[in-house]
Amino acid sequence: MESRTGVPSQGATGASAKANASLAARTSAAKGAAGPLDEIRRMTTDLVFGQLNVGRGGLTSKEAAARQQKLGKNLIQSGKKKSPIVAFLSNFTHLMAVLLWVAGIIAFVAGMPELGCAVWLVNVINGVFSFWQEFRASQATEALKKMLPAYANVIRDGQEQKILAEDLVPGDIMLLAEGDKISADARVISSSDLQVNQSTLNGESTPSRKTADAVLEEGLSPAEIPNLVFAGTSVSEGNGRAIVLRIGMDTEFGKIASLTQNMEDAESPLQRELDRLTKQVTIFATAMGLAFFALNIFVVHNPFAEAFIFSLGMVVAFIPEGLLPTVTLSLAMAVQRMSKRNALVKKLNSVEALGSTSVICTDKTGTLTQNEMTVKHLWTAARTYEVTGVGYAPEGFIESEGKRYRAVDDVDLELLLEGGLLCGNARLHAPEEEGGRYEVMGDPTEACLIVSAQKGGIDPAELDGRMPRVKELPFESRRKRMTTVHALEDPLDGARTVAFVKGAPNEVVKLSERIRVNGEVVELTDELRARIMDANDRYAADGLRVLAVAYRAIDDTAHSEGVPVAMSDYTPENIECHLVFVGLEVMLDPPRPEVADAVAKCRRAGIRIVMITGDYGLTAASIARRIGIVEGDDLSVVSGFELAQMSDDELKEKLRGQVVFARMAPEQKLRVVTALQEMGEIVAVTGDGVNDAPALKKADIGVAMGITGTDVAKEAADMILTDDNFASIVAAIEEGRAVYSNIRKFLLYILNSNAPEAVPSAVYLLSGGAVPLPLTTMQILTIDLGTDLLPALGLGTEPPEGTVMDQPPRDPNERLLNKRVLGKAFLWYGMMGSAAAMAGYFLVNLLNGWPALPLAGLGNDLDPVYVQATTMTLAGIVFAQIGQVMNCRTERASVFSIGLFSNRKILFGIVFEIALIVFLTMFPPLQGVFHTAPLGWQDYVFLACIPFVVFAIEEVRKLVVRRMHAHDASAPAKAAR
Ligand code: ATP
Repeated sequence: MESRTGVPSQGATGASAKANASLAARTSAAKGAAGPLDEIRRMTTDLVFGQLNVGRGGLTSKEAAARQQKLGKNLIQSGKKKSPIVAFLSNFTHLMAVLLWVAGIIAFVAGMPELGCAVWLVNVINGVFSFWQEFRASQATEALKKMLPAYANVIRDGQEQKILAEDLVPGDIMLLAEGDKISADARVISSSDLQVNQSTLNGESTPSRKTADAVLEEGLSPAEIPNLVFAGTSVSEGNGRAIVLRIGMDTEFGKIASLTQNMEDAESPLQRELDRLTKQVTIFATAMGLAFFALNIFVVHNPFAEAFIFSLGMVVAFIPEGLLPTVTLSLAMAVQRMSKRNALVKKLNSVEALGSTSVICTDKTGTLTQNEMTVKHLWTAARTYEVTGVGYAPEGFIESEGKRYRAVDDVDLELLLEGGLLCGNARLHAPEEEGGRYEVMGDPTEACLIVSAQKGGIDPAELDGRMPRVKELPFESRRKRMTTVHALEDPLDGARTVAFVKGAPNEVVKLSERIRVNGEVVELTDELRARIMDANDRYAADGLRVLAVAYRAIDDTAHSEGVPVAMSDYTPENIECHLVFVGLEVMLDPPRPEVADAVAKCRRAGIRIVMITGDYGLTAASIARRIGIVEGDDLSVVSGFELAQMSDDELKEKLRGQVVFARMAPEQKLRVVTALQEMGEIVAVTGDGVNDAPALKKADIGVAMGITGTDVAKEAADMILTDDNFASIVAAIEEGRAVYSNIRKFLLYILNSNAPEAVPSAVYLLSGGAVPLPLTTMQILTIDLGTDLLPALGLGTEPPEGTVMDQPPRDPNERLLNKRVLGKAFLWYGMMGSAAAMAGYFLVNLLNGWPALPLAGLGNDLDPVYVQATTMTLAGIVFAQIGQVMNCRTERASVFSIGLFSNRKILFGIVFEIALIVFLTMFPPLQGVFHTAPLGWQDYVFLACIPFVVFAIEEVRKLVVRRMHAHDASAPAKAAR
């Protein structure tokens, strides 16, 4: 324990702020451990307080504000971002854009300025559009970052407070606990087995032990100094306190960060695939252009200029401009939607992995269950008790065989309730308003023990005063227990120092030698052990959570059993043995109501759920059954101990069936995740503690708990659940699947207009010119210039189709643009569009006498009937696209089932598309530029029918597919994934 001598007890004064500001300035100037850091590490803790002019009660809020005023916020300035101008210009310098610039130049040189302008305009529109999409995507991700603020626990104004890490100032006393990220450079002033992972600083993954003692040794690098902790590192074990010395860019991390912060997010596989796809298509388009050029020259014997314009049209038609940024935006929007459903995704990449997740490994407590515990039963060797009341309000009684009991009535009960209460760190806050709820600060498992003690008439404050805590051996998932040591006024078993141990019953029973029965301490015989475990199993089989309480009277056994008496020797090995068993507290933690539905959804979606919990097997299996994770009797419950004995092959064999992992140490999650990945699964895994970090990193999707998770787990994870709820993982998977299918819909749509744009030219070429060119290059550009873009954007925002969770997970190796999509785009939708376009063309010819011929070249003086015919080809494509955009909205479901008019963006796009085409045909100055002519009423009647026909044909196809699928599904069930 620390001495309190010579330390100012008040917060620092205004004058001292100056001293501290200058100290901070000096420390910031320090290189390595030289300078003031070097002075501070040599000081005793008391001197450190003096040096930083801060009392044991921390800074006052006023003083902290004054220091912040002088020194600024504790922020690592973000690195140089790509300037918006560079970002904007980069949209005009990639391969496709350069190709279009060159094409425009050639058009100008060849004496066709309006064509040159149109090509450039296509390029500019696409560039601006891409920039805008990228900008919105980056804004969406920036906004998300702000939803993940870092916090620090400090002592200010004499009280523990949670503040934003950016508000830390030199002199703040930070409270450090396992899993916390350290947000400033600081001098340790107390340490309880404090160990810090400094890999961010020195790449060393073995944790460094930190102590409060002065360090005089020479030749140490900053990270090697045991009494200094640094920003950017994290507490891997133990806890402690440290006084902040340096903040923000003055910290060691700040110095490194300025070197590394320009690292960019890696591109996701999807983005890479699209990038590759765009390049391939560009090359393909250019090749097509060259082929059409050659055909023009050698087969149709057109002049060079005409052949050039012709092939240029092909190139532009095929290049999928704006694809990549639109996809990025779709991903960013999905991420935003996920955040509204309580899942914060840290990187766009994760959205795809979410979409193909095939197994979710989830813990139980708090994720599947509510983490709202109520003690329902108490067990001692002499009696069992029922506890009435639900929740954290201390309203209820303890009864046994119809008789009410208070703690004072029964010595064993009293000790059980006292031990449970004392051995915990949770706090309960009474509601401020009448009818409000009690609020839990800390672990709910511990909070409910306070309530049960209160129901037995124990006053926590009075008990704390009577049995003050002198030492804590914190709870660890690995040990599955926790111990606190107390100094007693009234001796227990003749001792004035007693350790209370609470934890998993089998662990505590193993460490116990004796047991309390009606106030007597007797030997814990095998028979009594069996009775305890029987009771435990009965409760656990009902899905209840059981904790055991035991104690160790230290004074009397210390010498006889060789326990060292010095406080520093109070280690788990020394203290948690030779225990006297007291009893069991049995708590109810009901499943979250929404989880059963989410589990059912996963079943339909072919996603398996593997429960990996620290809790007892029977409790875990009972809960797993109750919420539908496990069906039927075929279940293996594998304990952490059993897993440790298993070979990888045996583990994989277990993983093929229904399995629940119980009493697992967090480290063992990694093994399960690895085995599943080796089996070809895409794995999402949940975690909250420091030891979960490796599994979170290894998984395809690491999911950290936002409420109960440590900073370390959150940092290692790809996704953070703001409500710790399993159902939110499923919601995120649904969004992940939806975005992928939306991108496919979008691709299908923009590709499908390529065929109708190419077919007219092919007809012209293959007929050797007998069918005059039905669609001119300028008209092709019209489609690319505007009519196609807006409806496509609407597709990116379609909400998840009802059926996305009725299909098995996507094969991660499956290409976005597979044969099915290509076939559908070119051969099905594309041919429908081509037929509509060509029908329009021939209709005009039919009505006006075949064939309408272009007159002098394609530039000027065109035959009005020919122009009208080509305008109809153009309009035919545009109207077919209206039907297609509707068709693309669903893969298999009827569009009526999602609401014909439910996507406003698409409707707006359609209206825009029609208005544009009418405008281009009616407005004389544009008629000359785009080679359009006004259309007659018969033409419009024909055009108006196209979307309906295209839509009806596809609806019939979808209906047939659905029928076939339903037939398949009613056939013997396929093996579940
Ligand atoms: P899950 O792994 O599903 O979150 P869990 O809370 O049971 O469930 P751990 O936190 O690893 O998992 O705890 C393991 C076991 O340790 C618990 O089942 C319980 O028996 C015991 N335990 C949990 N919390 C405490 C605590 N605060 N003090 C003492 N023992 C505890």
